[in-house]
Amino acid sequence: MALTKKGRYWYGSGPDDTRAELLRYSKANACPATRFAESVCACGHRAFRLETDEDAGAARRTCLTCGTVQLMGDSAEFADEAEFGGHECVCAAESFELLSGVALYSDSSDVRWYYLGCRCTACNLVGVFADWKCEAGDAEAFLAAV
Ligand SMILES: [Zn+2]
Ligand SMILES: [Zn+2]
Repeated sequence: MALTKKGRYWYGSGPDDTRAELLRYSKANACPATRFAESVCACGHRAFRLETDEDAGAARRTCLTCGTVQLMGDSAEFADEAEFGGHECVCAAESFELLSGVALYSDSSDVRWYYLGCRCTACNLVGVFADWKCEAGDAEAFLAAV
């Protein structure tokens, strides 16, 4: 499937489309994402409510099936000072599939920038809903916790 644009927004049908939009966004930010990971709850489901604080550098997802809450990546370090705000799609839904992407420092596996890509499970809108400069260290460990 390919991304299609309606008005200001892009729509897709799965994680590949979210990744394509995340790549486009990160290139425009002059800090291209090179590694990616989908969020999957321990219960196996992939639809989440998402809350973030870009200033604090923290994101929190809540599984819409089982209610499990997880602080994403290294967010636990910053959650105390974070003021989480919920994300709502332009269609008013609050259910998203999440794809995280990170940019790395050159010649390193250390995270430099974090991008949080979303696909609305109601209308298929895809977009980067949050991103921030992130000094999280090893990308593999970071992405294992999204
Ligand atoms: Zn769950
Ligand atoms: Zn939507």
